[in-house]
Amino acid sequence: MKGSFPVEGFQTQETPFYYYDADLLRRTLAVINAEAGRHHAFHVHYAVKANANPGVLRIISQSGLGADCVSGGEIEAALNAGFPASKIVYAGVGKSDWEIDLGLRKNIFCFNVESIAELEVINERAGLLDKVARVALRINPDVGAHTHAKITTGLAENKFGIAMSDMYGAIEACHSMEHVTLVGLHFHIGSQILDMGDFAALCNRVNDLQRQLEHRHIEIKNINVGGGLGIDYVHPNRVPVPDFRSYFATYARHLKLRDGQTLHFELGRAVVAQCGSLITRCLYVKQGTAKEFVIVDAGMTDLIRPALYQAYHKIENLSSDEPLRTYDVVGPICESSDVFAKSTDLNLTRRGDLLAIRSAGAYGEIMASRYNCRRLPGSVISDEL
Ligand SMILES: *Cc1c(COP(=O)(O)O)cnc(C)c1O
Repeated sequence: MKGSFPVEGFQTQETPFYYYDADLLRRTLAVINAEAGRHHAFHVHYAVKANANPGVLRIISQSGLGADCVSGGEIEAALNAGFPASKIVYAGVGKSDWEIDLGLRKNIFCFNVESIAELEVINERAGLLDKVARVALRINPDVGAHTHAKITTGLAENKFGIAMSDMYGAIEACHSMEHVTLVGLHFHIGSQILDMGDFAALCNRVNDLQRQLEHRHIEIKNINVGGGLGIDYVHPNRVPVPDFRSYFATYARHLKLRDGQTLHFELGRAVVAQCGSLITRCLYVKQGTAKEFVIVDAGMTDLIRPALYQAYHKIENLSSDEPLRTYDVVGPICESSDVFAKSTDLNLTRRGDLLAIRSAGAYGEIMASRYNCRRLPGSVISDEL
């Protein structure tokens, strides 16, 4: 063991692979259920796009969370993992006909609709299947989040959702359509948000909209505020479970729910990020002119976040207790951006050492690609070792 890693069990695994700490995942889910459970009418869905590993999905479905899907493939993955259709919500700016049909046939809880054009197609497809689709309108609240520009979604300039100025037109469209029933409003302002003030700003915006709707006697059954709660990438050991208490309390304090309304959340990263690590082996230690490189067998094809978002991931050498040294940790891919960390301190590293790239459970394995004709990374869940 080093830290919470069963290093002996890793020796026979082919690297690189994702390692998921099932105990931490279950502990995180228990905290989510306990903290959301303090508040009446809070429902949590897991955003499948963060990690759709079948073993991970099954543990999450067993905890009772619903699923938030953004494609037909994710709906299939969620159903296969045991999420009931009645707890599946489906968002996405570009839903294909077959994906809409799948959602209708399986009778999912709700389509989060992002345009009037989409509403028309859902109405038409539902008519063909002799169904009535439950829909929520995804409203772009024009609320900024203090996070990386590539992961804000709630600004007017983003492609997501329906502009607030078009909301009434969309509501009227719903009311005029025979095979669509409006059951909610949906929002999502971005990802890796750590400032509770951003969520409070969303609550204030939702309160404004609700007041306006009430004046027009328009009733909304469910409010869905999306996900976005961030995690501590710098201190995965000290803060393995995000502060769900503050997160849910922020909504309880600021969002004014009406009688009988339910509040839905779609959390991805906060559920799975800390339980996952990318385990990789040091291939070579190379002395450059100005720095020393640890070249590992994982690359940006296995974990793209550092290359795509300049994301920080803590790295630990699981095989060495020798004094710290400063390295750049890089992968083998033919791209200069294939760098996991610059000037990071690791215990003295040698060829063959196992390294853990931490906090990689969200937007890691699921974003792996076969660029350079590489194999996809494997995965191991701690229960299996
Ligand atoms: C990505 C996404 C989420 C989950 O975001 P996290 O930051 O991982 O919590 C929730 N809802 C929608 C609509 C999304 O696109």
